[in-house]
Amino acid sequence: MTEEEILKEIEEAFNLNYERLRLEGGHALTEDIKRLALQMVIRYWKKMPDVAEKVTDTEVKISLPEQRSPKRRKFSIEGIVDILKEEDETWMYDIKTHDGKYVEKHLRDYEKQLNVYSHIWKGLRGEELDHTAVVALSLPPQLRDALRTGDEKRIESETAKWNPLIEIPFDQKHVDETIKEFGQVVDRIEDNVFSPPTLATLKEKIGGEQFGTRICLNCDARFSCRSYRKFALGSSSPTISAFKKYIEDLGPEADVEGWTTDNLEHSEIPEAVDIEA
Ligand code: SF4
Repeated sequence: MTEEEILKEIEEAFNLNYERLRLEGGHALTEDIKRLALQMVIRYWKKMPDVAEKVTDTEVKISLPEQRSPKRRKFSIEGIVDILKEEDETWMYDIKTHDGKYVEKHLRDYEKQLNVYSHIWKGLRGEELDHTAVVALSLPPQLRDALRTGDEKRIESETAKWNPLIEIPFDQKHVDETIKEFGQVVDRIEDNVFSPPTLATLKEKIGGEQFGTRICLNCDARFSCRSYRKFALGSSSPTISAFKKYIEDLGPEADVEGWTTDNLEHSEIPEAVDIEA
């Protein structure tokens, strides 16, 4: 198959999958987000063709049922992973739409989840496993920017700098601790205890940008989040102009321009209405 044919297949499969999910879940994406999601898949294939082509088992369901939370609630841990078995080694990949810099900075959180999956795969199912890794598909801002300009040279150079594969070490001694932490989260959810991360976390830098800018600006809950409010307003008695900036901040100018143009280009414009009729 030529590269062009593969890209066409990827796009067709993506569109089919999207339509199925849209009909099943009743949620549609705006055109810019849909195009960004397709770009993630295409960039993943271009960056890691060996993994994308050689994965032996895709979307393997991993499950640890019949667990009990500290408050005796019953819960199961489930996950979906991809497995690549080669002659001399086996890899387990957890594909995420997360930001690679964020994953690297919070390795311990990802380690916990993947360690439990490894425990199920290797310890309970008795399967081979040598490496585990997260594939973080969120495209870095520089690559997104290059894609927006359509400058092939820049796209190539930014794709080369991007590293979506983050290997996670396996540590059996963290497994019990992690299952316990999952149980604590189950109790917090069931008890309706939801708290956002602290202001200090929002001020932490990830890949040169603060969490509050890089992550929160993409969060639909930000206008009802007290940590984000403190982060964006910067003071307990904000000025009117600070408040205006907070409400109107839809992200970096280039991003806003990109999604506005995408959505306008692909929106169905209603027929002109004859107001004199
Ligand atoms: S704005 Fe969203 S992502 Fe940011 S801290 Fe609040 S809930 Fe979390």
